[in-house]
Order: sequence, then C-alpha cells, then structure tokens
Amino acid sequence: MAPPKRPVSGGDAAASKQRKLGSANPPAAHASPSAAGSDEDAASDSDAATCPHIDGAYLDTVNRACLDFDFEQLCSVSLSSSNIYACLVCGKYYQGRGKQTQAYFHSINDSHHVFINLRTLRAYVLPDGYEVKDRSLNDIKNAVQPQYSPHHVAQLDTCLESGYDLGGKPYRPGFVGLNRIKHNSYMNAVVQALAHVPPIRDMLLLLPDRDGQPALLQRMAVLVRKMWHGRLFKAHVSPHEFAQEVADRSRRRFRLDVEGDAFEFLTWLLNTLHMDLGGTRKKGSSVIYTTFQGQIRATTHGSEASRDPASEGGRPQPDTSQSAVVEKMPFLALSLELPPKPLFTSASVDTSGDGDGDDRTDIPQVALTALLQRYNGSTAIESNGKLRQYQPVRLPQYIICHIKRFSKGGPMAEKNPTVVNFPIHGVRFGDLLPCDASQQHCRDTTYDLIVNICHIGQQMPAAANTSGRQSDTGQPPPVAQPDTPTASAANSSAESPFVAYIRCSASGKWYMLRDLHVEPAMPQVLCLSDSYIQIWQRNDSSVH
Ligand SMILES: [Zn+2]
Repeated sequence: MAPPKRPVSGGDAAASKQRKLGSANPPAAHASPSAAGSDEDAASDSDAATCPHIDGAYLDTVNRACLDFDFEQLCSVSLSSSNIYACLVCGKYYQGRGKQTQAYFHSINDSHHVFINLRTLRAYVLPDGYEVKDRSLNDIKNAVQPQYSPHHVAQLDTCLESGYDLGGKPYRPGFVGLNRIKHNSYMNAVVQALAHVPPIRDMLLLLPDRDGQPALLQRMAVLVRKMWHGRLFKAHVSPHEFAQEVADRSRRRFRLDVEGDAFEFLTWLLNTLHMDLGGTRKKGSSVIYTTFQGQIRATTHGSEASRDPASEGGRPQPDTSQSAVVEKMPFLALSLELPPKPLFTSASVDTSGDGDGDDRTDIPQVALTALLQRYNGSTAIESNGKLRQYQPVRLPQYIICHIKRFSKGGPMAEKNPTVVNFPIHGVRFGDLLPCDASQQHCRDTTYDLIVNICHIGQQMPAAANTSGRQSDTGQPPPVAQPDTPTASAANSSAESPFVAYIRCSASGKWYMLRDLHVEPAMPQVLCLSDSYIQIWQRNDSSVH
C-alpha cells in the first residue's frame, strides 16, 4: 500500500484552496487511530468561511519537518511553562500571543506567522492575532495530542495496517522506539510494557482530558497515545515530558540521568497510577487492580521448634502439629527466587575447552515452572525467622512475574545470571491454585507471555541502589546531586541495560524494543536473554 498523502507545502493558491476543501487530508477510511473527529472538521469549514483573513500563503509556510511536540512545553526565551505556543514555521516554543509576548515578538522579528497553542490546540496568525480554522492543520493537532475513539481502540489488536512517518516510511503503530534521553532505559522498557497491556493501554488512550488531572497520568496518556499513533511525523517518540514528571513526582527516586531498577520503577508507577485513578485499597478499585491484582494465601507457622533443617535435604519443614496463622493478601506481582548464584563464573570455568573462557554451559538453568513451585502452598519459605507457605487463591487477568536477579542493598548488588527457561504459550499458572479456588475460577487458567523485559550486563548500575537507599529513608536528596564517579562508571556503557520483548497481538510476532531500536525478534531468543520482568496474559482475555 502506498503511503497516504500528507498535506504538503506549496505556494499556489489552487493547492491552498484544495486543502481548505479537505481533499489533501487523508481519507476517513485510513485506519490510523488519528482522526480528530468529524465534528471539529465541520466546525472549521463553516467558521473558516466567515474569516476573511485566512491566507493560504501563511499556511504554506508551515514546516512539518521542523515540528517536534515531545519536548517539555517551555518558552524558549522566558522558560515559562504557561500559555505556550509552538511556531509552526520553525518549531520553537514561545509564550503568549498578545502584544509584548515572546510569540508576538518572534512573529515580527523572524516573519514566522502561524502558531498553535499546545494546550487548546487553537492556531493563530501573528502578529495580526486572528484564529486559523483550517482542516489542513488537523494532522498537526493530532501530533500534539493524538485523539482516539473507542472504535479505533477496539481495532488496535487486530489491525495490521502500517503507519507512515513524514518521509513516507512505514512503521508499526505501537512498536516505535523511545528516545534514550540519558540513562532512562529502565523507564522506557516499563512504558513499552504497560503500553502493550490492553486494559491499561485502552484506559490511557481514551482517558478524558480533564482540568486538574494528575500530571503523571496525563503525561503517560499522551506518551502512549503518541506511541500508538498511525501518523507520527517521525517514527519514534521522546518520553521527555513523562520522565520529567516521574522525577518530580518520585522526588528524584527515579531519574533520567541515572539508570534505575525497572521492577522498582514498575511497582512505583503502578501504585502511583492506581492512586491517580482514584483507586483505594479495595479490590477492583482501579484498572490497575482489575488488571494485575490477584490474591495470595500466606500460612505462617510459628515457633523455632517447628523448624527441622535436617529433613528433606536440609529444607525447613513446618511443624503441622502447631497452630498456623492463615492470612490472605493482595499481590500485583509474583516474585520468583532464583537458585543461589554459582561461585564460579563462565570466565573461570571454561567447559568447552577451547580456552576462550567464553562458555555459557556452566551457567545454571532453571525452568519457570520450578520457580513457580514457591507458590504451590506446600513449599516452606523462611522469612523473618518464621516459615511461610504461599499459594495464590485468585489469579488476575495479567500476571506480572519478577525474577529476582539482584541482591538487595549495597552499591555492588550483583546479578544472578541463571537462565530461566519457559514456554511462551500455555503456562498453567492455574495448577498453583488450591482445588476449591480452581473450581471457582471456571475459566481458562493457562497464560501466554506478552511482555518479557530483560536485563543485559553484569550488574545493576550502582546508582540504582543509591537511589533505593534514599527512598528507604523517605528523605529526598536535598539538592540535585551530580552523578557520583561510581554511577558514571557504571553508566558509561553505550548499551541500554533494559530491553523489552513484546508480542504484537495482531500478527503474533515478537519485537525487540531497546530505546530507539525496534526490530522483529524470533520467539526462540526470549529465553536466551536474562528475563527480569514478565507479563502473562490469561488465555480467555486474548483477542484471538
Ligand atoms: Zn518560528
């Protein structure tokens, strides 16, 4: 399919008239979720006719190649963040449009005349100050704030149509790269993951724009809307505004300039979004809970006497003759413990005998199903001097698994490189449920993998642990701290440590998203990387 025509700049009056009639706009049948809505088009047609000033020559100076609406909305002169207009000729942001404002001065000094208010999306010709209502600007309005209808959203998981950037290059909407601004690959991987969990994505795409909306929720919504947009000017998005808000809201626990722990960030983001959506402690009180929250039963066995380290190959066994405390608790993710890290690494043991020391066969492997036995209700786990048994009694629609690769605390948090093996289809999480709960589920309790976030490299960046310690004390750092030498050293790698592998529901194909890089991936490679966070979708909720 040929790329749909975009409005182009041209000098002659005929072209200008053609745009006004709408013939240069993409046909309504174009499947991108970008149409702004026919009401707006109708209004602009009738109002445009009443405005005698509209001059196609001004609109022809609009230069889409210069436009980028991912930046923080600050006036390029005053650095103010209120009432910001983008100059559609050079792309710079200026405050205000009245006399004595930066936008007004810019229009006179540089003879750039078409501006758009980044909040209201109304376009004006300056310095004259009249509003331009021309449908040829709709693609620009959509680039600032993409709009979706429930109909478009319902089609996202079945639509295979390509998007096209300004240069006519095809891309897959939903599978676009996110800029690595500094050291934010942990944020990018988590955003990519959540943008592909349908209930979360759909909520964000259709979130009503309300005054007083929490900024984090609103910026995440704008970011995800851009990611799924079928008519991006460039086929990647910068998460700058979102990341800035994350840093502010988390009191710099999660920052742009220091790689963090993707799972810590995911947990924080889910809890913060839950609160912003009006969620409470109640089950199902936000889309975050209806999507990810399950319930687990913890049985705690009391005293020291109940521990018998000698039995069952050294594994502690609960003393069933003593009373046990049973409590049910909600969970948003299942943490999976890896077997202890081996003492010898691949560098010291070269089993292949070729002397290159580079051999992964000595790296232990474990099956995901073995890790899940932690939750079978009979495995006893030592915690704070007591023995506990865990068993889920209700499984959510989407299960988040956190494979614990990093030892807690200390700047030298080392990574456990154990390879986790798993099938990507039909994992029977339901087998963990006790019989009574299993019958209550009366649904398919097998799950398919839809997201696999992997960590690449030897250890968590040192500064991630530093930031964790700051949060533990509850004290934000007094001032913006420059990177410590350790942090800079750990982050000097050009490679991003976090990579998201994501399944496209429409095609069933897998993609690897590593910041700006997006490429198809073979499902076989999923087990080869060091899986860190997985999201599993219950089979009855998939579109197929
Ligand atoms: Zn300009």
